[in-house]
Amino acid sequence: MVLSTEDHNKASGNKATALAAGHKHSSEQKNVRVRIAPSPTGALHLGTARTALYNYLYAKRFQGKFILRLEDTDEERSEERFTDDILAGLKWLGMNWDEGPDIGGPYAPYRQTQKEDHYSHIANQLISKGAAYLAYETPEELAALKEEQKAKDEPPRYDNRGRNLSQSAIEHYQKEGRVPSVRFVIEEPRTVIWDDHIRGQMAIETIDLGGDLVIVKSSGIATYNFAVVIDDIDMKISHVIRGEDHIHNTAKQILLYEALGATLPKFAHAALIFDHDHRKLSKRLHGEAVHINYYREQGYMPEAIVNYLVQMSFTPADGREIFTLEEACELFELERISKSPAVFDVQRLNWFNGHYIRSLPLKVVTERCLPYLTSVDKSKYSDKQLEEIIGSVREGLTIVSGVLAATKFYFIDKPEINEELEKTALSSANAKAVLERTLKELDNLPYGDHKGCKQIVDSIGKELGVKGKELYWPLRASLSGTTQGPDLGSILSILGAKQIKTRIESALSCCS
Ligand code: GLU
Repeated sequence: MVLSTEDHNKASGNKATALAAGHKHSSEQKNVRVRIAPSPTGALHLGTARTALYNYLYAKRFQGKFILRLEDTDEERSEERFTDDILAGLKWLGMNWDEGPDIGGPYAPYRQTQKEDHYSHIANQLISKGAAYLAYETPEELAALKEEQKAKDEPPRYDNRGRNLSQSAIEHYQKEGRVPSVRFVIEEPRTVIWDDHIRGQMAIETIDLGGDLVIVKSSGIATYNFAVVIDDIDMKISHVIRGEDHIHNTAKQILLYEALGATLPKFAHAALIFDHDHRKLSKRLHGEAVHINYYREQGYMPEAIVNYLVQMSFTPADGREIFTLEEACELFELERISKSPAVFDVQRLNWFNGHYIRSLPLKVVTERCLPYLTSVDKSKYSDKQLEEIIGSVREGLTIVSGVLAATKFYFIDKPEINEELEKTALSSANAKAVLERTLKELDNLPYGDHKGCKQIVDSIGKELGVKGKELYWPLRASLSGTTQGPDLGSILSILGAKQIKTRIESALSCCS
């Protein structure tokens, strides 16, 4: 059973606020070494990215080290393409890791598969100390045990039957050709207690841990719970910050730390991310939308993903919602992470994304938009023209991939005017007058000056006694083929005299 008894948040939050105000770091925050340890059995998940961010921010906040370690011991499910995806995703979000094997360039990640011999060596040490033993059950026997327990309505657990095998039983199994796994003795009954940096005081009963733990499979490969402890010890990890789904693993791991005579790191478990129906975000239920690369391909801004993922369960002491990765490094406090599950809300992510599309330097936004202008011959336009075009539509963009639809009208000879548009925008008595009058101003429009162009349109309106839709829609329809879209002054300014003339003349033929 999991108990979380203290409301740790407030008390420690105050301490961290004092730190933010310039006080000295406590000993706990010296030599901070944290890690993200994804398994390359799938693409980078939103939840893993958020955990990576928490670790990254904690490291940066206390001038520590952020380490990437690939937990790739699952030979069947680990794939190199997932490794590539994880690395690319972390970099895209701006999280570069601080250590790794030196390959004469940016660091490579650490990989557990490089350490199999080391894990076996430590497993043997545990066996010789009596803390672990060779277990000879076959998968069939273990499956039968599970069935028996199920029939009795008992939770599945290993019944520790291999703990005290007689020498003759061992010889018998060996003769049968059984290949043993290594199991670590889980002391029962016992309560494993730790002070969690997010959840407060934690207490787990070892009786709930499923019996003696496999640490090396019969294939010779170390299991997650074993390899992770050895690696965290070897890498001098000071804080293990990860998802709440690892709480029971933490209890098992604490027992392993003890058996290995190692100092415990600090643990912090963040609540998971759920959907609106309280279901954990998973590929099975939510498809590709749980992966970072999905958002990258859709044209989301990495700044928005970072901001959204961090603020999803964390509010800085000053209450702000919008912050960059660099700012978050200054603001971050583990103790201010909420204990309640976060709810993934794509509308809210879109809100952040829109904010960054509007506020990042136009040059950056343009560079990110250009790959989505697939059908446009960009060589016909200068960088400045492209920036102006993107600049005119960015206000209305939620995601960058919408840029082609929003700007298409700039790149064609003239827009199509359908019957509906003809009726709503070009059939009024004033439409013809507005268009004809605008044609006369072509030489006077201050191209390049969006506001100036808009002022001329407004003065035409005044002169003709026409305003609002009556004034703007005929122009919008003829120039862009729709009554919505960017500011009219921007459209005129960007299109220039020649384009405006062609478009208005063509639209005039539709006017009644
Ligand atoms: N490979 C584990 C995972 O992806 C790492 C958990 C941990 O941080 O210890 O869930």
